[in-house]
Amino acid sequence: MTNRRQFVLRLLPLAGAFALQPGIVRSADPPELSEGDPLAKALGFVVDANKVDQAKYATYTKEQTCANCLHFKTPGAVKALCDIFSKSVPKGGWCSAWAKRV
Ligand code: SF4
Repeated sequence: MTNRRQFVLRLLPLAGAFALQPGIVRSADPPELSEGDPLAKALGFVVDANKVDQAKYATYTKEQTCANCLHFKTPGAVKALCDIFSKSVPKGGWCSAWAKRV
């Protein structure tokens, strides 16, 4: 039992050093969706819902944002994975695939 404990204690500094490597821990985060992404363009994605082209997207209302969209995977987060794009989107964003979270 003591040997196992000592073994784990010896690994802790290594685990910390491993976690601090940039590309290792951050690779778990999905990349952020940009407005220039071809699919984002096709669906009218904007990082700021106040900039939605209302002439083009007549069904858009001011209440619609990523934060209250069904596809925003972490309600309450500042940004989260959107399962339409498989990328991170900001809570204040919007696209034409918006669907009300119930
Ligand atoms: S599908 Fe929803 S969460 Fe994803 S970008 Fe569009 S409005 Fe935002």
